[in-house]
Amino acid sequence: MKVLVMNCGSSSLKYQLIDSVSEAVLAKGLCERIGIDGRLTHKPTGKDSVAIEADMPSHKAAVSLVLSHLTDPVCGVIRDLSEIEAVGHRVVHGGEKFARSVVLNGEVIAEVEKCNELAPLHNPANLIGINACQELMPGVPMVAVFDTAFHQTMPKKAYLYGLPYEYYEKYKVRRYGFHGTSHSYVSKRVPEILNRDGASLKTIVCHLGNGSSICAVDGGQSVDTSMGFTPLEGLVMGTRSGDLDPAVLEYIAGKEGLDVGGVVNVLNKKSGVQGISGVSSDFRDLDTASREGNERAAAALDIFCYRVAKYVGSYAAAMNGVDVIAFTAGIGENDANVRAEVCAYLGYLGIAIDGEANRCRGEEKVISTADSKVTVMVVPTNEELAIARETVALVQ
Ligand code: AMP
Repeated sequence: MKVLVMNCGSSSLKYQLIDSVSEAVLAKGLCERIGIDGRLTHKPTGKDSVAIEADMPSHKAAVSLVLSHLTDPVCGVIRDLSEIEAVGHRVVHGGEKFARSVVLNGEVIAEVEKCNELAPLHNPANLIGINACQELMPGVPMVAVFDTAFHQTMPKKAYLYGLPYEYYEKYKVRRYGFHGTSHSYVSKRVPEILNRDGASLKTIVCHLGNGSSICAVDGGQSVDTSMGFTPLEGLVMGTRSGDLDPAVLEYIAGKEGLDVGGVVNVLNKKSGVQGISGVSSDFRDLDTASREGNERAAAALDIFCYRVAKYVGSYAAAMNGVDVIAFTAGIGENDANVRAEVCAYLGYLGIAIDGEANRCRGEEKVISTADSKVTVMVVPTNEELAIARETVALVQ
């Protein structure tokens, strides 16, 4: 079955066409600047890439362009749209309603709309993409795969904030967690790679990318994760502050003449390693700057690793032990220094890293020594493949 995986943002759209039998990517691409002017980058596997400027006044126009490139005689990979048998959509927020992926119908869409308030930047864009696909591919079954769903197994002690309970009841204020598709994919892959029984495995997944989160997975279920009501909580990220004393909001608002929304915007977009270093949110730039003697870049890297190590320690405590720590996403898969720095804090857990193995990049690999008490691994994430698998499982 050929499955189209869609990830719609407010002005962008990422897609992959995946053959569910071979799990090969047939084509992938990106539409940018939707509603502004429009740019499409289309990469058919085994053929030359195409990059064009094209008018994209709406998401429907963008989806239409994607479909015409997928079926194009030169850069296409299928003869006819009828070859696309299902579409899997990434949806950021499923609230408490969706603990797993679901086939999209009118009722489901109405329920997803109710979650818009919880993710006002993301869910409406996801829904626009869903509507555009439904209009252009009528009758093709479509599935919503939620970033939050995997974490719905968290117990109350992990998801409730220390706030008046009525805010949870009235406004659904609680911790939801994100990156669920990635945490789920990696935590399932770990026992497969190690040939161990996942049901008895305590794993801590460190998804370290531009957005970063950590997840404690006990017997295949998420029991805690570092992102919260929004993706702002937890680790220090590319541009997000992560955990913070909330009183800082009022203080900065007063000093800078900002309202709460203005400060939250700073916490989301101008903070994290970018804000600390003043150099970049990209770890490659920070590494270069740090080697050149930039103290703030060095501090940003230290702060990032320290926070990751603290979360790993707290999740080892939460699960009363840890068998596997898995690093994934852009930084986790590529940055050997970050992995080594984080693990250096974890010697008390009996962790020992094999320096040679840790030099790997973007491949599945055990990076701990044979006598390390905890297995440390790199497991590249593949959210698109996870979405395609979920989609096939639900429509077949
Ligand atoms: P992601 O959000 O998972 O796509 O990760 C993107 C981030 O990964 C970038 O902003 C970089 O900070 C980091 N990254 C990507 N490649 C490398 C690399 N080779 N070395 C270090 N960090 C990297």
